[in-house]
Amino acid sequence: MFNKILIANRGEIAVRIIRACKELSITSAAIYSEADTTALHTLLADEAYFIGAAQSSESYLNKEKIIKLAKEIGADAIHPGYGFFSENADFINEVEQAGITYIGPSAKSVMMMGSKTAARQLMKQHNVPIVPGTTSPINNSIEGVKIAKEIGYPILLKASAGGGGKGMRKISEAKEFASAFEATKREALKSFANDEVYIEKYIENPKHIEVQIIADKHGNYRHVFERECSIQRRHQKIIEEAPSSFVDEETRLKLTVAAINAAKACNYYNAGTIEFLMDKNKEFYFLEMNTRLQVEHPVSEYISGLDLVKEQISIAMGNKISFEQNDIKINGHSIECRIYAEDAENNFMPSTGILTEYSAPSGPGVRVDAGFKRDSEISIYYDPLIAKLILWAPDRSTAISRALRALDEYHISGVITNIHFLKKVIASPPFVSGNFDITYIDKQLDILLKKSTDLILNEEEDAAAIVSALLKNQTKSSSVYKLINGNNNRWEEQLYE
Ligand code: ADP
Repeated sequence: MFNKILIANRGEIAVRIIRACKELSITSAAIYSEADTTALHTLLADEAYFIGAAQSSESYLNKEKIIKLAKEIGADAIHPGYGFFSENADFINEVEQAGITYIGPSAKSVMMMGSKTAARQLMKQHNVPIVPGTTSPINNSIEGVKIAKEIGYPILLKASAGGGGKGMRKISEAKEFASAFEATKREALKSFANDEVYIEKYIENPKHIEVQIIADKHGNYRHVFERECSIQRRHQKIIEEAPSSFVDEETRLKLTVAAINAAKACNYYNAGTIEFLMDKNKEFYFLEMNTRLQVEHPVSEYISGLDLVKEQISIAMGNKISFEQNDIKINGHSIECRIYAEDAENNFMPSTGILTEYSAPSGPGVRVDAGFKRDSEISIYYDPLIAKLILWAPDRSTAISRALRALDEYHISGVITNIHFLKKVIASPPFVSGNFDITYIDKQLDILLKKSTDLILNEEEDAAAIVSALLKNQTKSSSVYKLINGNNNRWEEQLYE
């Protein structure tokens, strides 16, 4: 058993890992920057060490300082969380060279999946279906135009080293290619220090479905079912669910087999996620593998009863996975809402300040993973994620009602939050019917932001009553639309009936 784990992260994920350490009687050591002296992770950890200035490069992204500190304080292991050093092969090598265990995959697996083109090549070799397109970078726009013509427009130009929804550009016709190619290369170089770009077919109106997997150092692989992550804004997830109401048993079987093959292809151990795009015919294509714990892991924990962080720690210690595949079944339904400090009505601008009031929901089936408490400061330096609200219920309809009930209980002052926006999305007919794809938020933003009376959830309306009416009618989506908007049916036809 490890005696001490250094958590090389901050915010809600650092708190999540501290909690797992405490339950396992492992000493938790937090690091904190100048901006986080009173942050929840700093206060909750058994030990907390000041690491540097607020800028990430001086603190949470200072490899030398973190590894030196881990040695000095006698940490046996480092947990990277997500973001920061969580997918950095050099970091893993240096941690291991210092005689410290990295709670995550091998540097080699991270490298194999780190480049999107290399990962696509590997998946092709292992018969995991990939989005049609190239498996190596495009050298110039003449070559690119030729390939794009073969694949058929629209296509997506993507940075090989991309992440966080950045470094992607949709191209609808050949004449746009040259300038889009240059712009994407420039953006990729600036954001990822690597200007390689490649081509993928642009899949129209797909769902984003991903599979949680877990593997140990003894060659055992398990999946923990799928997550539905199609509620995104600008390619970034906002609401996630498990299971997906679109995935049937037969598709689930194919999907989870493909995910485990993907993990085997890079000799993976640790928790990981294989992301897929799924079209309306339930054909699915590998998108990428995230070689780390993900923000949305709690929905999988809720439906499976597992603790993925404890499982990661145990696997890092060299133990076998604690369960057989048949030991876990999908139990009920879980929804996660990302609570951000941002102003939806002002182009989702991040909102900073002190949380003068912070009161989180509770009650049956409610889990809140927060990185802040009352009087904490949301600063300009980091991601404006305040907390994750995760709901569980025996079925999806009850989970939806519970999400609205819990969002209503949230009281936060001092910063602007996206709570009202989340309520509108959850109570909207496409969400309730499951009839949405990755373009839903971006396409329907005007309606979702609308304040006037013909839309759901202005202050006088009772969300629970609306949702229960919707749920009763959800088999026939057109009647649902009518119910909400009267004769003024403004919702676009969706593909997922
Ligand atoms: P990142 O690593 O930046 O998160 P991904 O490759 O995982 O990038 O894609 C992020 C999101 O972008 C997907 O969830 C999806 O919404 C959209 N996307 C990516 N590739 C395609 C594609 N080929 N066709 C349509 N949408 C895509």
